[in-house]
Amino acid sequence: MTKKLFIPGPIDVRTDVLEQMTKPMIGHRSKDASLLQESISKKLQQVFYTKSEILLSTSSGSGLMEGAIRSCTSKKAAVFSCGAFGDRWHKMAVTNNVKSDLYKVELGRAIDPQMVDKVLSTGDYDLIAVQHNETSTGITNPIDEIADIVKKYKDIVFCVDAVSSAGGSKIEVDKLGIDILITSSHKALGLPPGMAICTFSQKAIDRADQVEFRGTYFDLLAMYKYLKKKNYQYPSTPSIPLMYAMNYQLDNILKEGLDNRFKRHEDMAQLVRTWAHKHFKLFTDENHLSNTLTVIENTQNINISQLNSKLMEQGMQIANGYGDLKEKTFRISHMGDYQIEDIQYLLKTIDQILEF
Ligand SMILES: *Cc1c(COP(=O)(O)O)cnc(C)c1O
Repeated sequence: MTKKLFIPGPIDVRTDVLEQMTKPMIGHRSKDASLLQESISKKLQQVFYTKSEILLSTSSGSGLMEGAIRSCTSKKAAVFSCGAFGDRWHKMAVTNNVKSDLYKVELGRAIDPQMVDKVLSTGDYDLIAVQHNETSTGITNPIDEIADIVKKYKDIVFCVDAVSSAGGSKIEVDKLGIDILITSSHKALGLPPGMAICTFSQKAIDRADQVEFRGTYFDLLAMYKYLKKKNYQYPSTPSIPLMYAMNYQLDNILKEGLDNRFKRHEDMAQLVRTWAHKHFKLFTDENHLSNTLTVIENTQNINISQLNSKLMEQGMQIANGYGDLKEKTFRISHMGDYQIEDIQYLLKTIDQILEF
């Protein structure tokens, strides 16, 4: 039985998208490979509302997060964290010997733009890293307000982790002045895991040029230069099957219409929130709720692992809380190509299992 994965990645992939991956290989130095990459880039520029160049990496999203902070921090990075993925970004800096400071807020709360202003006003930093959507707590940070603050500081390279939201929530990269927006294939874009995507602005390019030790595989500037010189190719071999699937799925996404897609995610989120209010409580600050996943506080002390086992018997799976929030919270993801009916069916099944 195929399982419906209501976990925050990987999620279900449509069969017609999967089938794209069985097409015959092409050489990664062929003209066809260039055309494939160029086609993907043009479509992703639409999805992210940007004119910046698009870089693909055959890795999960974490690879580009590490590459971004390493390639583009010259002075010091300010990492803002409202959960596990923010903490991890800071760890990436530390373990790469990149100078950085970590600024945290309480779990379930959003990053406060005033705090960003205060930190940047010290003049100590030349890059900031922040999650658009923090998957461990269900927060969508007030990225518009943060962007307004960042715009005041001309030296700052603005890096945003939108791994669990890009393609499901509207993020206007150029309007917000985001220099590097990062996402993974296997979340809201509805593709299998294995590739990461980022935007790469002129400011980010100029900065990376001043950074001496950028590593090799995740050197964003090397990727960019190679892509420009070799007409949309990469220094190392990319996952051609995933690129076929991505090129095809981006057509689906654009055909659905971006606004329709974002609205569908909002509607699915609304449904889960209403259900959660009825039986439990939302874990997350209600002013900053994510449209791609909902984190619910386990106020009824149900056994979440047990609930999940029963759900799995019926071909569905949700996610337990992340890290310390395990059993204290649970997470329902509603991203990618799921429809309202899929969410309704999931919630109805949970109701039956829990005898609500
Ligand atoms: C899933 C996730 C990541 C890690 O992405 P991978 O593709 O698994 O490396 C990073 N940040 C956020 C917010 C995520 O949800």
